[in-house]
Amino acid sequence: MSVPREGGCACGAVRYRLTSDPLFTHCCHCLNCQRQTGSAFVINLLIEADRVELLAGVPQPVDVPRDDGSKQQIFRCPTCQVAVFSQYARPEVRFVRGGTLDQPSGVAPDVHIFTRSKLSWITLPDSVPAFEVYRLCGRPPVSNGSRRSLRRQTPTPETSVARPRHARDGRLGLRCACLLVC
Ligand SMILES: [Zn+2]
Ligand SMILES: [Zn+2]
Repeated sequence: MSVPREGGCACGAVRYRLTSDPLFTHCCHCLNCQRQTGSAFVINLLIEADRVELLAGVPQPVDVPRDDGSKQQIFRCPTCQVAVFSQYARPEVRFVRGGTLDQPSGVAPDVHIFTRSKLSWITLPDSVPAFEVYRLCGRPPVSNGSRRSLRRQTPTPETSVARPRHARDGRLGLRCACLLVC
């Protein structure tokens, strides 16, 4: 990454810089993301929390219910309320919202997930892996309550493994792009 990516909220009170490339970039078409964004999907840059450097402001966490009964924290500008990143089960990982980057065109999805609820008028490129759900590695789903809905989903074939680009860096000990499920 030659120039660090920066972004922020609408009013400028919150500004951040990503001090490295993300681990992985998701385009998520799930119903939760559609509802939270009021749009067709979300672009999330998955990156270690300590690589999201706050330049101005302190985003405030808001607990948001999800369809499976769990909650996720969405961090919003305290003034204009724009959501800049989310936190799911692993607090060491931020899901930075790609649309808040100063240059959103500087990132593209490594993977499309939850395409079972993708809106029918969106056509995905053949060149990017796409998965019905969030099961990229073929391992059995974990069985804690917050992942209940995953047990009802059809496992993705082992052949569909999507490896993060930075797996060999040892970042977070990632084995695959599931990240939250494995
Ligand atoms: Zn703001
Ligand atoms: Zn989603």
